[in-house]
Amino acid sequence: MNIHEFQAKQLLGQYGVTVPAGTVCTTPEEVKAAVEKLHANGARTFVIKSQIHAGGRGKGTFKNGYKGGVKVLKSVEEVYDAAKSMLGQILVTKQTGPEGRLVSKVLVEAATNIQKEFYVAVLLDRATSRPIIMASAEGGVNIEEVAEKTPEKIVRETIDPTVGFMPYQGRKLAEALGLTGPLMGLATKFFTGIYKTWWECDASMVEINPMGRVLSEDGKEYLLAIDAKIGLDDNALYRHANIQAMRDLAEEAPLEIEASKYSLNYIKLDGDIACLVNGAGLAMATMDIIQHFGASPANFLDVGGGASKDQVTAAFKIILSDPSVKGILVNIFGGIMDCNIIATGIVAAVKETGLKLPLVVRLEGNNVAAGKKTLAESGLPITSGDSMADAAQKVVKAVAK
Ligand code: GDP
Ligand code: MN
Repeated sequence: MNIHEFQAKQLLGQYGVTVPAGTVCTTPEEVKAAVEKLHANGARTFVIKSQIHAGGRGKGTFKNGYKGGVKVLKSVEEVYDAAKSMLGQILVTKQTGPEGRLVSKVLVEAATNIQKEFYVAVLLDRATSRPIIMASAEGGVNIEEVAEKTPEKIVRETIDPTVGFMPYQGRKLAEALGLTGPLMGLATKFFTGIYKTWWECDASMVEINPMGRVLSEDGKEYLLAIDAKIGLDDNALYRHANIQAMRDLAEEAPLEIEASKYSLNYIKLDGDIACLVNGAGLAMATMDIIQHFGASPANFLDVGGGASKDQVTAAFKIILSDPSVKGILVNIFGGIMDCNIIATGIVAAVKETGLKLPLVVRLEGNNVAAGKKTLAESGLPITSGDSMADAAQKVVKAVAK
């Protein structure tokens, strides 16, 4: 699961990372009130930031033509106008794809005087099975580009999880980034805080891009998380009710949300043959066999061990609302599952949705004879597959036509 920048900053703040104070707003009026408050407290530059689960906002463009999903502005009026151009509008960035994302929240902060931008992230290094901190003095920009063209500009520090992030590692990283003097201690505190956030929240990634070296009003330099991105391990979410509450369904694929309502395990993929299967292992084998015969699966869909007729119907509807689907392969092994329940569900779903696409069904196991009979007697154009290979070949051939 991913969370918004403002939520990531809340978590980071709790673990001792210096983050700007901000207000989340959903209307231009709320934005105006928030900026007026900042102004009354002495701020003269402000930043307004679109909250979507995608980066590259600064360089993004709204579908209404407005440029920039992150803006640094100098008056209350300008921020108010920016809020009107952002809220309720679609922002397209390098990471959103051409369809863009609807902006329904903006974060308002007092802008800071950034002297230099750094990249810092904590992730799991699968090669060593350990957490690492990755950092670069080439921050703010696209880190993938730095990694590709000038990999030597990225420094890495492996962390031993049994002892955690050590102060000497903080000093080592700080030195590599050119953060000396009083900034070295602050950098160590900053890195310790982001590592702690990563560890305590069961995050898969904590990324600060940029971490700013900022000059305060009274001429002191300090480090600040200007942007923040946190990805979380879904399997550990049950341990964090506070983080679960941060889930924003509007940012997730609509078909996947619909599937989760019916306890269906659905993941959209790029191919054109949809599959409906019971059991995760069989679903993976089904995707493999589609690939083996030269086509690609349009989704992963596991209806579970004991699917009901309603679940099967919902699964069909979800599959069919994906416009790239050109054919369907149903592969059911009835262990717990009664094949006839699946067959009844399929017949109901085909009738209800007026299915026009080729449909191949392979049923095996518990009450299979009754299931096959239900399909045959339905009078619907459903092709039966005798084995997994036979069914996969039939659907691949039908779609190729
Ligand atoms: P992203 O484009 O989605 O990665 O959004 P960021 O939060 O990283 O913002 C983009 C850029 O806006 C940053 O790299 C900064 O250069 C700039 N920016 C954001 N906040 C401030 C601020 O408080 N002061 C100044 N001067 N620039 C800021
Ligand atoms: Mn950024």
